Amino acid sequence: MHGPWKSMLVGCLAGTTIFPAFALDSSGTPYNSPRMNFVTHLECANCGARYDADKVHNLCPACQRPLWVKYDLAALKQKFPKKALFGRPPTIWRYLELLPVRDVNQIVSLTETITPILETKRLAAHFGVKHLFVKDESRLPTGSFKARGMAMAITMANHFGIQRVACPTAGNAGGAMAAYAARAGMEAYVFMPEDTPVINQKECFLAGAKTFLVNGLITDCGRIVGEGKAKKGWFDVSTLKEPYRIEGKKTMGLELAEQFDWELPDVILYPTGGGTGLIGMWKAFAELEALGWLKSPKKPRMISCQSTGCAPIAEAFKKNDRFAKKFEPAATIASGIRVPAAVGDFMILDAVREGGGVALATPEADIPKWMRLASSHEGIALCPETAVCFGALEVLLKEGKIKPSERILIFNTGAAQKYPEAVREQLPHVDCTKPIEWDKI
Ligand SMILES: *Cc1c(COP(=O)(O)O)cnc(C)c1O
Repeated sequence: MHGPWKSMLVGCLAGTTIFPAFALDSSGTPYNSPRMNFVTHLECANCGARYDADKVHNLCPACQRPLWVKYDLAALKQKFPKKALFGRPPTIWRYLELLPVRDVNQIVSLTETITPILETKRLAAHFGVKHLFVKDESRLPTGSFKARGMAMAITMANHFGIQRVACPTAGNAGGAMAAYAARAGMEAYVFMPEDTPVINQKECFLAGAKTFLVNGLITDCGRIVGEGKAKKGWFDVSTLKEPYRIEGKKTMGLELAEQFDWELPDVILYPTGGGTGLIGMWKAFAELEALGWLKSPKKPRMISCQSTGCAPIAEAFKKNDRFAKKFEPAATIASGIRVPAAVGDFMILDAVREGGGVALATPEADIPKWMRLASSHEGIALCPETAVCFGALEVLLKEGKIKPSERILIFNTGAAQKYPEAVREQLPHVDCTKPIEWDKI
């Protein structure tokens, strides 16, 4: 092992025995790209204006919409063969050429491991389907897939010499930002609704972020972060308000494609809040197609799943609108998808429509039921956000929009352990000072 990969391997070697991609290529040495960075420019997702990727950007200055990172896909196709992945560690950084990183020494990482795709036969039997998989993102640092986006955003902030970052959060984004900022030695400011799950509040505090509880929603927190930019000199890493969190979330798409041996599943169900993950995966599939890495041009249908307690994307989909209306009042125990207005609404809806998918909401009241059903059938600790995907699956199977023979992938975006509030059951007590009442056990 030589070159820049050497430093990236530290701390990752525990995965070598279980990950086949550690084989060496035919020359006997791991592939080492002569050129790491293929970014050409940034481009507005709405008006198409182009910007210099060597400068710090938030939203498009012209129209206040999100920016895409664009790559020289023709050069990548020539210089980044699939076999380049052989011998690389099982982390998100194995896709380095498809990422915006300029210098591997600037990477801020807690080892963002490749997350397992678990075949769930008991759940499949429950729903009467053949192939049901769960990609378990709860294994990532800070217990949710927000680690992917924040690892990338903080890496790029580090590259640009940014010292102070801030974000509004529904919960997990704050926790992840706080952790990566701590890892990079940056100052972090987190603003969250005062009813954010208590674990999220404490993880931000523990990671040393200046953490504030706001008597409003994430949109109110977002306004505060925006206003503080000038006053406090922090960089705003809000969802889609800087270009790099999408690139981090894009690794979900790259990764699942590789795990499925470049044959994408037929359907992907994804709990949608700000939508970075869904948008990122869709971008990943387009880039992989341009590279010629996919075995078939057929893309998965993206199912954007929400709760009836906060369903702006599902409502816009129903009305055939490209932009979503702010959803009020927004109330769901699935805090990660309590996003009443998403800046990337049109990007989510475009991705859903392009692939022939749907956006739909399932009843808020069913969330604990699905959490328990899925967790107890398979032992996977499913977060309340993912619970809505099971509600959606049931509906779409009934409507015939998903066929029982299809390959279905559900994202478990976070760890159930972070949501004690979502489980209300009182457990029975045993009095150990008295004879045990065995008939009650
Ligand atoms: C943030 C979050 C979501 C929503 O993700 P987006 O990519 O912003 O749509 C879903 N689940 C969990 C656990 C989250 O933290």
